Amino acid sequence: MFGVKKLKDSLSKTRNSMMSQISDLFVASDITDELWDDLEAILIQADVGVDTTLYLVERVKERVDQERLKQADEVKDILKDEMRELITSNTPLQLDTKRLLTVVMIVGVNGSGKTTSVAKMAYYYGQQGKKVILAAADTYRAAAIDQLKIWGDRAGAVVVSHQPGSDPGAVVYDTMKSGLARKMDLALIDTAGRLHTKFNLMKELEKLHGIARKQVHAAPHESLLVLDATTGQNALSQAKHFKDSAKITGVILTKLDSTAKGGVVFAIHRELGVPVRFVGTGEGIDNFEPFDAEAFIEGLFTED
Ligand code: GDP
Repeated sequence: MFGVKKLKDSLSKTRNSMMSQISDLFVASDITDELWDDLEAILIQADVGVDTTLYLVERVKERVDQERLKQADEVKDILKDEMRELITSNTPLQLDTKRLLTVVMIVGVNGSGKTTSVAKMAYYYGQQGKKVILAAADTYRAAAIDQLKIWGDRAGAVVVSHQPGSDPGAVVYDTMKSGLARKMDLALIDTAGRLHTKFNLMKELEKLHGIARKQVHAAPHESLLVLDATTGQNALSQAKHFKDSAKITGVILTKLDSTAKGGVVFAIHRELGVPVRFVGTGEGIDNFEPFDAEAFIEGLFTED
């Protein structure tokens, strides 16, 4: 499948640094304490995070004991299993139901790839025949509005925008009205990445939620946080900050192609308790994939 190859290509940096070391570790030899220490060090280095690494290694050790394995090369499959388990989500993305208009809020700090991801997501669903409308509700940055218009056009989406500095609530209001009137399938709301305080951010997002919900039942149906994978564990602390205020239901992880820190995917699932929904695999409008745990694990472990 085309998408699987793109995901795999985007994982080459992570694969080359993390997985080649893991493969070296699991050559046929006895399982020693040193092996576990080395495995921990490699996972932490790949930004899996200390807590998640300790959890994973503990799980693998338990299974190795239970299954009475003696050879290091048998451990690799167990590790793969446990990693897959950690990132397999039980909650599917809430987009493909029969509701009138599906509303998705997109949040994240400036520079994370938020605007690009909104456009990529519009393109992705546009390619599947969905009618997509975008709200340029990051009204604090003139450049973000312009960029969304350009990329939105490219994606074939309708873009609703007001003047820079105007009320984001009014943009959301117009987007809901227009989206319903024009029988759109999906509304993506690009929100401001940075307000002065967490309290302001929370207030603003709550206000936008309220405006959307007044017109569309149970909106927003998803709130996706955009995180830059190149920032590794910092992305995670940023995410914790947003999670409290923004009712995050999932993550869009960008720039997977530019980093060896792809291990952060595991920490996101375990420590944030929300799934990665999409990944950014490059700068092009079609470098965007729904997250697939199986493909991710294969991409990490399998050389060409
Ligand atoms: P925003 O400030 O969060 O809205 O960020 P932008 O959408 O403007 O993106 C910031 C930079 O990241 C731009 O140069 C994008 O081309 C780049 N970018 C976004 N997503 C990806 C990705 O998945 N891979 C790569 N390599 N670059 C990306």
